[in-house]
Amino acid sequence: MATAAVTGTDDIRTRAQTALARCGADLAGYKGDAITARTPITGAALFGLRADTPQDVDRAVEGARTAFRTWRTTPAPLRGALVKHLGHLLTEHQQDIADLVTIEAGKIRSEALGEVQEMIDICDFAVGLSRQLYGRTMPSERPGHRLMETWHPLGVVGVITAFNFPVAVWAWNTAVALVCGDTVVWKPSELTPLTALACSALLDRAIAATGAPAGLGQVVLGAADTGERLVDSHHVPLVSATGSTRMGRAVAPRVAARFGRAVLELGGNNAAVVTSSADLDLAVDAAVFAASGTAGQRCTTLRRLIVHEDLADPVVDRLTHAYRQLPVGDPFQAGTLVGPLVNEAAYTRMRETLDRATADGGTVRAGGERRLAEAAPGAYYVRPAIVRMPAQTAVVREETFAPVLHVLTYRDFDEAIALHNDVPQGLSGGIFTTDQSEAERFLAADGADCGIVNVNIGTSGAEIGGAFGGEKETGGGRESGSDAWRSYMRRATNTVNYSGRVALAQGVDFSR
Ligand code: NAD
Repeated sequence: MATAAVTGTDDIRTRAQTALARCGADLAGYKGDAITARTPITGAALFGLRADTPQDVDRAVEGARTAFRTWRTTPAPLRGALVKHLGHLLTEHQQDIADLVTIEAGKIRSEALGEVQEMIDICDFAVGLSRQLYGRTMPSERPGHRLMETWHPLGVVGVITAFNFPVAVWAWNTAVALVCGDTVVWKPSELTPLTALACSALLDRAIAATGAPAGLGQVVLGAADTGERLVDSHHVPLVSATGSTRMGRAVAPRVAARFGRAVLELGGNNAAVVTSSADLDLAVDAAVFAASGTAGQRCTTLRRLIVHEDLADPVVDRLTHAYRQLPVGDPFQAGTLVGPLVNEAAYTRMRETLDRATADGGTVRAGGERRLAEAAPGAYYVRPAIVRMPAQTAVVREETFAPVLHVLTYRDFDEAIALHNDVPQGLSGGIFTTDQSEAERFLAADGADCGIVNVNIGTSGAEIGGAFGGEKETGGGRESGSDAWRSYMRRATNTVNYSGRVALAQGVDFSR
């Protein structure tokens, strides 16, 4: 099934202008020809925008540093008041930001609204956190001494984000960083500048309404070189970078060279195991969303399904059937479940992956073909693909950022875990089973080696309350909930002597 037509570029442009204006963003100051804001719905250009120069980036960092001097001593619960206001504005403008997410990233309506919901939720979380930035008090080994730790703001946080979560990742970082007393300079993806300008306008409004220091949240537009300027700045103690492993490989050594901190959220190659005891209705339903939702353009997208050999045929048949029913088309149209790929390069990579998988002995069981090429020749809609693979070959071990699900089989459970872990990435994994010992083994130290490990849930769609991130080439960073806030602060260990005597640790005697 595919919807017949797509929204026209003029309508999309008007919708973008309306959403930007409602949020308070003014494009006039950003006119230029360095960046083109496009929509994957038609593939057409919407607006030409300027990029920030290296000097602009330096100025933004300087402005954020100046704001930090005031912000770091503002009591954390008052910092929370700013984030609370931002959450209210996001609630008021949920439809507007969601419109821009659909326009720039091609997300279907419920996913775009869901992404903004995630922003609202992390604001709520951060407001609560603003009263819970706890340090510990430890028993001192010396009489008349107190030993404790305090957490202090770090400084300017450089946030670099990817096109596929154009606003939620900014909010995860910004809401938490702001209550931690940091200030933020954001370099959004060059593919999603409009969503960034709208969010930045909402933050400016929240700053003005709450009397927080101007300049504590800044946005700089541009491509990799703009990001590099931020990465290299000695005035940015923490760089939180989300994107491909290729990007992380470039960013990590540069931050390390100046002894900065990095939170890296990089590529995934996520797998789910379907064991012989699995509830197949549940497993297939969950796999369809995890593998084809967001047109396969989530870092947590399900890319590998590792099925017990006795179930492989029925599972693939059911998946193939479900894939045939998936409505592919204009993400603004009600009923669409699979929107467009972000651009032609993504489509080319998908085709190359399918060719390589076939050359390795794989059989394409569903999808892979382009849709709506006549209605939208500049856009890249595809039917999500399922490939049955004889082995986990090189192409399966890479992340292709498109909806390609590789199906592999296993005979015994250890083999399933070995296949699951035998990729360079370590973001998200899942198991479908009704056998508790299999579930526990998957969650255990010798089980799945990812940062996110689920039972009877697909690999995508994490909640904000947990820490988000992955191991190995996914970068090791953690953002969002739980205690991820600690990356945004510096810890001081304090010992206070109220005994009136010098007492040395470890019983050292230095008496003269
Ligand atoms: P990308 O790596 O092309 O770009 C991401 C961001 O990094 C952009 O803002 C880009 O301008 C910037 N950038 C690129 N090279 C840089 C450099 N050398 N220095 C500084 N900045 C640089 O990624 P993309 O295509 O926008 O997004 C898709 C990728 O992101 C996928 O690999 C996906 O798995 C990953 N991703 C990971 C997570 C996660 O939390 N682990 C979340 C979303 C996306």
